[in-house]
Amino acid sequence: MPDPLRVCVIGGGIAGAELIRLSAKTSGLEITLVEPKRQIECQALYPDYLGGLVRLEDLSAPLQPFCNRMGARLVRERAVAVNSGRVICEDEEVECDVVVVCVGAEQNYFGIPGAEHTFSINTLEGTLKAREFIEDRSPDRIMIVGSGLTGIEAASVLAESLDASIYVVEMMDRLLPAFPQSTSALVEKILYERGVNMLTGTAVKEVRPDSIVFGDGSSLDCDMAIWTTGIKPPALVEGLDLPKERGWILVDPYLRAKDEIFALGDCAWIRVEDKLATKTGIEAERQAKHMADNLSRMVRHHPLVPYSVLASTDNPMALISTGCGQAVGVYGGLCVSMPSWLIHSLKSWIDKSIVKRYKCKPKRPAAEVAPAGRHSR
Ligand SMILES: Cc1cc2nc3c(=O)[nH]c(=O)nc-3n(C[C@H](O)[C@H](O)[C@H](O)COP(=O)(O)OP(=O)(O)OC[C@H]3O[C@@H](n4cnc5c(N)ncnc54)[C@H](O)[C@@H]3O)c2cc1C
Repeated sequence: MPDPLRVCVIGGGIAGAELIRLSAKTSGLEITLVEPKRQIECQALYPDYLGGLVRLEDLSAPLQPFCNRMGARLVRERAVAVNSGRVICEDEEVECDVVVVCVGAEQNYFGIPGAEHTFSINTLEGTLKAREFIEDRSPDRIMIVGSGLTGIEAASVLAESLDASIYVVEMMDRLLPAFPQSTSALVEKILYERGVNMLTGTAVKEVRPDSIVFGDGSSLDCDMAIWTTGIKPPALVEGLDLPKERGWILVDPYLRAKDEIFALGDCAWIRVEDKLATKTGIEAERQAKHMADNLSRMVRHHPLVPYSVLASTDNPMALISTGCGQAVGVYGGLCVSMPSWLIHSLKSWIDKSIVKRYKCKPKRPAAEVAPAGRHSR
């Protein structure tokens, strides 16, 4: 094993940043992060930002100071290709022994005409634009397409904070179709009480500048449409010569795609012992912790340990905000709604502490502290 082991992490979202934070205490690693953004972002707080409930600084942490504290080198560029032992960025090339791809996911509009002109809260830029539109135009009728976790939280927060008619449009016959029936029924009841209009079993055929056209040809006028349904692999993943499943990077139980190339978080397809990992922050964090432990094993010449999925598609885990300081918790088939304010406080605390942890110093013995920028070339 090379000494030091040069690791290139592509993508500084939750999976990449967590991997770097947890690897900072491992000696014998030289880490480079390739990420074009200036900050680490907590997407789980985007719906709250949309509703004006949190500030920008609550949901993001500056990346360069974080990398300095962790002793990692930051290349503020987009990766465009990965070859054996080399990550090619827009201007620079990073030579390395191990590559960890953590590039997340992009919004999927499924080729529906006009859908790309809607607002999306899948990115920070999209969320800022949507909030600005709400503040400037005070829309009277807002259509939210999709009733997954993001759609439900966006509808709840807007129903709570705006004097507007909120609609949720869902193609399947119930809200939150990826969750158990009991969760859908409970959340439908809560949104009904909040005055949200729910159009289930309704497919969107086209989005026009001031209306949405449905599969049966009918349409509804709206002042704002927010697209929350569907994700797809980012552009980089499409071009990578790695095993894939439905376009995502297919990894083995060690989170390895091929040779010394690994993948974590939303961009990876992770099925271990028949449990398919959900594309959630909870899973991204756990996978990062696992990868950090396995990097430490590599340095010590110990065999890698297989990953075990916790939040799988047949055992979903989530804390879902339902507005007015309330939330429900889902763990597998169990849906907990009481005390709803306590579940909301827990969710809010978890989401905000994710960001805070990237603003603080890592806990490690003073002897191991390396000067910032030790890996600069
Ligand atoms: C609105 C919303 C609400 C959510 N709420 C929850 C929740 O309540 N609970 C939960 O568990 N999960 C939630 N999620 C899901 C969770 O945020 C994601 O699963 C998690 O962020 C995935 O982490 P990641 O590191 O894989 O991807 P990301 O956090 O998306 O990070 C990917 C990073 O890769 C970078 N990147 C992309 N392409 C390149 C490239 N070519 N070169 C270099 N860098 C690149 C991007 O800039 C980005 O910084 C939510 C998601 C959204 C959108």
